[in-house]
Amino acid sequence: MSKSEKQPDAGGYLVLARKYRSAAFDEVVGQQHVAQTLANAIKAGRIAHAYLFTGTRGVGKTTMARILAKALNCLSTDGPTAEPCNKCDACLAIARGDDIDVVEMDGASNRGIEEVRQLRSNTVFRPARCRFKIYYIDEVHQLTKDAFNALLKTLEEPPPHVKFIFATTEAEKLPATILSRCQRFDFRSIPAKQIAEHLARLCESEKVQADEGAIFRIARAAAGSMRDGLSLLDQVIAAGAGKVAEQDVLELLGTADDERSLSVARAIADGDPAAALSAFAGLIEAGSSIGSALGGLCETMRNMMLARVGGQAADLIELGEVQKKAVIELAGRFSLPALTQAVAMLSNVAYKVRTSSIARPLAEAVVVRLAAADKFVDPVSLIERIETMESGAPAQGGSARPATGAFAPPAARQGQAFQPRQTPAPPQAQGARQAGQVQSAQTAQPPQARQPQPPAKQLSTAEKQQIQADPAVKNALGLFGGQVIDVRAEEDNPKDDQAD
Ligand SMILES: [Zn+2]
Repeated sequence: MSKSEKQPDAGGYLVLARKYRSAAFDEVVGQQHVAQTLANAIKAGRIAHAYLFTGTRGVGKTTMARILAKALNCLSTDGPTAEPCNKCDACLAIARGDDIDVVEMDGASNRGIEEVRQLRSNTVFRPARCRFKIYYIDEVHQLTKDAFNALLKTLEEPPPHVKFIFATTEAEKLPATILSRCQRFDFRSIPAKQIAEHLARLCESEKVQADEGAIFRIARAAAGSMRDGLSLLDQVIAAGAGKVAEQDVLELLGTADDERSLSVARAIADGDPAAALSAFAGLIEAGSSIGSALGGLCETMRNMMLARVGGQAADLIELGEVQKKAVIELAGRFSLPALTQAVAMLSNVAYKVRTSSIARPLAEAVVVRLAAADKFVDPVSLIERIETMESGAPAQGGSARPATGAFAPPAARQGQAFQPRQTPAPPQAQGARQAGQVQSAQTAQPPQARQPQPPAKQLSTAEKQQIQADPAVKNALGLFGGQVIDVRAEEDNPKDDQAD
């Protein structure tokens, strides 16, 4: 924050987005790729005459344009510098957006040919005190066709003292003739984690007490836009009388809180529909709409899915450290197929309730369905899966795994938690039995394992490989995600019906 614009308004309170607007290339959050390239180009003296900044709203386009303008025009050095001083008259005026040589225009309100003609006739004049006359046109895609044509003439042969910086949220609306004459920089949506870190630093500078959960809530709601994050933070600070508490954020946003969503998920993991329903009711009583309660639960399931996938996927979980830990812990009680299915089901119902007059029953049905998953079989997806395999396409890992047991209490679940006895054996499994009996690995300790069985023959690795290579066995294993653990003679136990 050292170099940021901290000068307060004469009027008193300055909104955070303005007070803490980044003032140097290395301060811009989330756009290092742009900042670095621009700084290097300036150091190398390779300065283009037109730049195009594209990206969604609030990601730093105007901030970057002002830093670039300062870098080009800073009066503290003899030429352009990658490190403008932020103290000279030019730097200060550019930061305020009212420098005489840096003209900021809004493409939406200056979209006609007259405005562009005016601009063109002004470009012949040399800058008043700086090196360059810089035109910054925001939302440039709003210009009319005639205006673009007029602009093009200037872009084709710009006077050496003129630079253009265009910004747009919709680059695809720009004519190719304009695009081809600009150096283009694509600004990225800023990850919630980076927004959160920035907001936390600001709270520290502002001596505002903020909980981590609240900061992450704001950062997620900002959806990639630092400006939105800062505006929300402003609002919450104002509402909370100088404190940032998660409850205030939830009230402001009307979204479900993570802790309550997590208790619904816990009840689902326990296989306890009554507890799940009551926790879900708690979400709604706390002020969430049905849709956002489902959305919150869906997000919790998604986070657990990411945790279950592991590796770098866990970095995508946008939560504070404490909540992240709780989510990762709970994720261990679900199988990956169960979590992917839960995400799909919840997002599906969340979409439906938006237009439904029976939103709450629908929502409650899906919660019960998830918590009592061991009582449901999903025959449609099972049939689809079998058909896919019959058509010769490679089996997709678990996508159509039956719901049976997927959410069963943890003691009943091992890995993918398929409970074979509740599902009719599909044709492939019958085939598999002929090739030697296969037990799925997840059911290494199923109840039926205790029934009298013919003595198992210990298999060598080569034998296992040979059995596993059989197409029928492959299909059966692909269907249930199992592996061959032993083989028994079919004729010894003809009534055995455990071809999983
Ligand atoms: Zn300066």
